[in-house]
Amino acid sequence: MPNQYTVPRPLGDLLREKIAVRGKNECWDWIPSCKGGRPEMMFNGKRKLVSYWIYFHVTGRWPPEGKQLNHRCDRPVCCNSRHLELGTQKMNMVDMYRRGRGNSYKGERHPKAKLTSRQVYAIRAAHRRGESGVSLAHRFRVTSGTIYLIVHRVNWKHLPLTENRL
Ligand SMILES: [Zn+2]
Repeated sequence: MPNQYTVPRPLGDLLREKIAVRGKNECWDWIPSCKGGRPEMMFNGKRKLVSYWIYFHVTGRWPPEGKQLNHRCDRPVCCNSRHLELGTQKMNMVDMYRRGRGNSYKGERHPKAKLTSRQVYAIRAAHRRGESGVSLAHRFRVTSGTIYLIVHRVNWKHLPLTENRL
């Protein structure tokens, strides 16, 4: 995100008071305690997530409709704008799975196995027939996260939809 200060300073001052600024690429934690893990702040009579205030402070705009701010570092208390990115709820889920944090998949670890494109087709076909991600993960000896990424076409998205189009 570009560092443009296009809004009046008081918002910046307020933010600076409450953020533990550290090195450029480190996490900058929100100092006040927050319940639920996602800090909010009142400013100008409006209560919004701190990440939204930071985005507004840095860019002078609100995130576009339908977009939210995701933390690349996976830490909702982080206020470093370099760790924030515009995304969607789905992207955030996918990132979480990628980093192994999807709640319902916790603790499910299989030895990492390389899949072939034929197996990827088989996984997608079985998923379309209603086989669950957990069952597929067992059958193909990969994590449920891997299955999630395959059936949502995040991984292996270069493969055509059906095998005979190859
Ligand atoms: Zn961070």
